[in-house]
Amino acid sequence: MSTRAEQLRALAREVKGFMPDDEGDALTQLGREVGSQFPGGSWLEVGAWCGKSAVYLGLAAEETGCVLYSLDHHHGSEENQSGWEHFDPDLIDAADGRLNTLPHWQRTIARAQLEDTVVGLVGPSVTIASHFATPLDLLFIDGGHGHEVAWADYYAWTPAVRDGGWLLIHDVFPDPADGGRPPYEIYLAALANGFSEVAAVGSLRALRRD
Ligand code: SAH
Ligand code: MG
Repeated sequence: MSTRAEQLRALAREVKGFMPDDEGDALTQLGREVGSQFPGGSWLEVGAWCGKSAVYLGLAAEETGCVLYSLDHHHGSEENQSGWEHFDPDLIDAADGRLNTLPHWQRTIARAQLEDTVVGLVGPSVTIASHFATPLDLLFIDGGHGHEVAWADYYAWTPAVRDGGWLLIHDVFPDPADGGRPPYEIYLAALANGFSEVAAVGSLRALRRD
């Protein structure tokens, strides 16, 4: 019999997404650290897609009695649309021809039996942020990677991180040859505005509010 942690890790591996295995495991480890520091806390990820990162983080949230809000409008980012690099025709909703990852996300969270721990927030990031008043122990930014969207997420959500709280950012590429600029730019902005780096695994960066 494998443990619950092993089962969820194996499930996360199978979910569609853009999170390399080692970075997913790092999410779980970082989540465990945050959760043991702030048991019962509130976490939020911007960018849910099909629930892959939500399972890696959800595992740690469950172990430490925390709740993870997993936010997405579920219609994909620019780079996920038809004709772009990360387009997946299996995610098109036949009813309206639009990309819709919500049913996939729901199935993932149900299969993982994380429905009491991982709570979906469906809608535009900035709109939800402007009506969200809960201080966050952990914020994971992995939403749209365009200039405007990434900066909008940074400005809308980082104020919610409590003192000593953690900010995780995905797809941070110091070398432009490896990927787009905006996640790297908001990472630099966070370092210049009260956050310090705690860990780096692949393109994942973990910072803590001083
Ligand atoms: N964290 C996920 C991957 C997220 S992909 C994982 O590792 O499994 C980025 C997601 O951000 C896409 O699903 C897209 O729909 C969402 N997104 C982009 N811009 C958004 C916005 N303005 N509001 C809400 N979600 C957005
Ligand atoms: Mg990403």
